[in-house]
Amino acid sequence: MGFRPFTFRLALAHGLKGAVWNEPWGVVVDVEGEEAAIAAFESELQRSPPPETTIEGLQVERLPPIDHQGFAIRESAEGHGASRRVPPDLAACPECLSEVDTPGDRRRGYPFTSCVRCGPRYSIVRGLPYDRERTTMAGFAFCAACAHEYEDPGSRRFHAQTNACSDCGPRLCVVSDGPRGTSAVEEVVSALRKGSVVAIKGIGGFHVACDATNEEAVGRLRERKQRPDKPLAVMFPDLEALGRESDVDATAAALLTGSRRPIVLLPRRKPTALAPQVAPRLRQLGAFLPYTPLHHLVLRAFGRPLVMTSGNRSDEPLASSNDEARSRLRGIADLFLLHDRDIAAPLDDSVARVLRGRIQLLRRARGYVPEPLPLGFTGPPGLAVGADLKNAPCLATGDSAVPGPHVGDLESYEAQEVHTDACARLLALLGVEPAWIAHDLHPGYHGTGLAQAYGRPRIAVQHHHAHVASCLVDNARTDRVIGVAWDGTGYGPDGTVWGGEVLVADLSGFERVGRIRPVPLPGGDAAVREPWRMAVSHLLAAGVEAKHGAHPAYASVAAMVREGVNTVPTSSAGRLFDALASLLGVRDRVSYDGQAAVELEALAERTDDASGYHVPVTGERPLELDPRPLVRAVAEDVAREADPGLLAGRIHAALADAILEACRRVRQTTGLRSVALTGGCFESKLLTVLAAERLEAADFEVLLHGRVPPGDGGLGVGQAAVAAWRTSHPESDSGRTEGAE
Ligand code: ZN
Ligand code: ZN
Ligand code: FE
Repeated sequence: MGFRPFTFRLALAHGLKGAVWNEPWGVVVDVEGEEAAIAAFESELQRSPPPETTIEGLQVERLPPIDHQGFAIRESAEGHGASRRVPPDLAACPECLSEVDTPGDRRRGYPFTSCVRCGPRYSIVRGLPYDRERTTMAGFAFCAACAHEYEDPGSRRFHAQTNACSDCGPRLCVVSDGPRGTSAVEEVVSALRKGSVVAIKGIGGFHVACDATNEEAVGRLRERKQRPDKPLAVMFPDLEALGRESDVDATAAALLTGSRRPIVLLPRRKPTALAPQVAPRLRQLGAFLPYTPLHHLVLRAFGRPLVMTSGNRSDEPLASSNDEARSRLRGIADLFLLHDRDIAAPLDDSVARVLRGRIQLLRRARGYVPEPLPLGFTGPPGLAVGADLKNAPCLATGDSAVPGPHVGDLESYEAQEVHTDACARLLALLGVEPAWIAHDLHPGYHGTGLAQAYGRPRIAVQHHHAHVASCLVDNARTDRVIGVAWDGTGYGPDGTVWGGEVLVADLSGFERVGRIRPVPLPGGDAAVREPWRMAVSHLLAAGVEAKHGAHPAYASVAAMVREGVNTVPTSSAGRLFDALASLLGVRDRVSYDGQAAVELEALAERTDDASGYHVPVTGERPLELDPRPLVRAVAEDVAREADPGLLAGRIHAALADAILEACRRVRQTTGLRSVALTGGCFESKLLTVLAAERLEAADFEVLLHGRVPPGDGGLGVGQAAVAAWRTSHPESDSGRTEGAE
């Protein structure tokens, strides 16, 4: 990022001559001059590289002098000597924002101000190498002042490909039926004050925004988006305003104000100025700070927090072109704040949190994509298409995994198209000819069909094996571990629905050494949307008569469970959480994925003891984690009208105890002492912390997710790692692999 201009300035400062240029494997700096000056140049380059840059390795070679004339930045030539690295989108830097705020500055109020250190990258790149003519800035010709900055080695905008100003760069425009304001930002701010819903074009897509303190406006936005409960992200004007709503520790503050600026999940403080509908029944808040000068201008003028949620209809992909937004968001937004810089690649906001002092990504997107992660070995290149929920594809290129954008659920045709485009774009951008295509073992997944369409050798990777593999890559490991893979749904090689798995796994394969005792999953998708159905199934399995008799569908659900008609056995931990949440009266129906479990977690108060709640671990290979005593105890306590907050805490503690007990048993027979905690259930901070503390106290090494999401958004990385490993280690043990497709 700005490495060539940086090197140029550094060389001049040391009185050196030479040149700098990009090669596919990195940057080459050719310097000529006094021995001492070269040594000083080299040590300074190592000691303080440009911001946002990591030097992965430095190789020095001595060459005879060739009498350079000055120092040159060589333009990258397409396809030859070109860097295959695309930088991620970077939040506006403090210097640029200060210019935007400074009266008299020529960039005062200009919403597309950027420099060599900041601005959009990945989302505007059409091809490589990264030069202006291959971005969506290509149509904006520099004015004289911007051209001068671009060519001036002393300028912060020397070789800044996104350089622009109000004379030559992108412009805002407002589309509305209302009265015109004096400026686009003012018009939008006055509409927001009146409670309007506004679509705002950002870096990788549109947000739908409204006043986060206005209950009516938030209600309107929810109703129009058909999103009744799912928490909405809130953008605050600055850290100080956010500090009034939430406790922000140093790690979170650095993340919120840094160059990546994801949405960060933070503990909420009460009472709050935010409308209750922003995050109903939850104790945490998804917050972020302005990351473009446009956000900065709008938030500063508005002076209050804004709901800023993805600009899509529920279950549809993110809108990214002006026309698409205007047709898809019609009826949701009252007015549109548009601009004429196109989005080459749609990209959502990333979502992160701080877990035990470390940053953990729950959605890896803007600010991170397409940064590579080291695989720890080298294999033939390929493409992993990811899973069908919370999809994110991933490339493998030699020794790295390159996670692609978060695409989301692939149910709709539009989403499938976006996914196909995202895969094709990743391959083209990084110049990868895939030697293999990896996909989920599920025969009915969209990704499986797409993988077939590529006509390359296919590698099917079992869902929970991919979860464990993604955690291994995240922790830079390739060894065999105990993998506790708990989530809602994953296709098992035996045709049943897995989700409460204990695996012994490495990148070559896995063995299912334990699982939650299966119960019938009554009626497929309906059981996911209506947790009470899972409660019926778990209650009947535990020998307790269900108390859902009042429900019109009760008789048919109970019959399904008893007779095993229209059911599949499932070991799902997510469905067990659903059942327990329903038993506690948290909810019988969900409107978003994981809602029952998330609200159960928010309810939990004391978690220091499981007091009589117990999930026995029995059997051998596979071990069986038997939830029946827990279900019986919860049903009895609910009948006695015990405090639900207490019960919710005990449930989490009992399940964490069961994880520890299962891992102990596996350690006894295998000697393994490293445990990967992975899968969507470990989006629960409570379950993760309770399990990790217990395991560490019992001398296990715990591998948690950090850079790769624990949920299905990480599966692409896991699939890529397994496929790359298998194709580069043909001797790997196929007896422990996923079984027949
Ligand atoms: Zn900047
Ligand atoms: Zn200009
Ligand atoms: Fe999963």
